[in-house]
Amino acid sequence: MKLPRISSRLVKIIWMANLGLGLILGLAAGSLWLNNASGHPVFASAPEHTPTPLIQWTPGPFFRPSATPASHNTVEDTNTSGPYGPYIIGTSFSGRPIVVYRFGTGARERLIVAGIHGGNEWNTVVLAYQLIDYLSANPDTVPADKTLYILPLLNPDGAARAHDRTGRVNDRGVDLNRNWPYRWAAEWDREGCWNYLPTSAGEYAGSEPETQTLMAFIEKHNFDALISYHSAALGIFAGGVPTLPESDRLARALEKVSPYSYPPMDTGCNYTGNLADWASSVHGIAAVDIELRNHRDSDFEENLRVLKTFLNWEP
Ligand SMILES: [Zn+2]
Repeated sequence: MKLPRISSRLVKIIWMANLGLGLILGLAAGSLWLNNASGHPVFASAPEHTPTPLIQWTPGPFFRPSATPASHNTVEDTNTSGPYGPYIIGTSFSGRPIVVYRFGTGARERLIVAGIHGGNEWNTVVLAYQLIDYLSANPDTVPADKTLYILPLLNPDGAARAHDRTGRVNDRGVDLNRNWPYRWAAEWDREGCWNYLPTSAGEYAGSEPETQTLMAFIEKHNFDALISYHSAALGIFAGGVPTLPESDRLARALEKVSPYSYPPMDTGCNYTGNLADWASSVHGIAAVDIELRNHRDSDFEENLRVLKTFLNWEP
């Protein structure tokens, strides 16, 4: 697949920025991590249920997701028509900006979130920027009655740390998709769940600045549908416990145009405190988690079809 020119340049800049930052933070991490018997890194202060951060980072240079940082804004300009952004809606634990892009001006709002698992699922961030580039070049993709928001990277600290499994959590060692205030649990059975490294659900539900930022953003808006991108390979998850009927219908519609299976693979994991369940069960938003096929490819062509179906879908 040939990327648009802006996209490849942008992605390269992001990679370079991250490589540099990752190197610095990686060196810092080296002094904070211990090695367990199997040689896998573990967080140095990893006792569970502790209110203290699992890892404490010194705030580093801002991660800049754009080649044109001057265009960053702290407030959304609601008078601007057409593509708009990036604008900052909050900051991560270590002070990196969390940005959003907006397309269209219709009354009905939809949201795409990527990178909630940071560097561990880096390809979802690449996909989000490819969709942003596509929509910038093809703004008519968004129907007249819709406004689409894309938040390409909810966990910039994790993405800056590393593009592997050590980049999954935020700078306090929290899995941001376990921190939402619906079915939140401090601990869960790790069997069948992601368990490569120690992770935390946070001190309490909604404890993390990244979670708080997106919660406030969602509560300020009136979204009727949401996609949260992950990787890899499990399929499409419909939000809500019990599953919201609208989430189920959205998942079925997206399954038809994508290679991702619905229902998803059942590994027996209990996904406590996740974004999609919170959005559906607390706010009645049709929400799905989509898992890309692997940790490497962005599946752009497949998700362009997903995007168009998502934008034209009716609850
Ligand atoms: Zn994930």
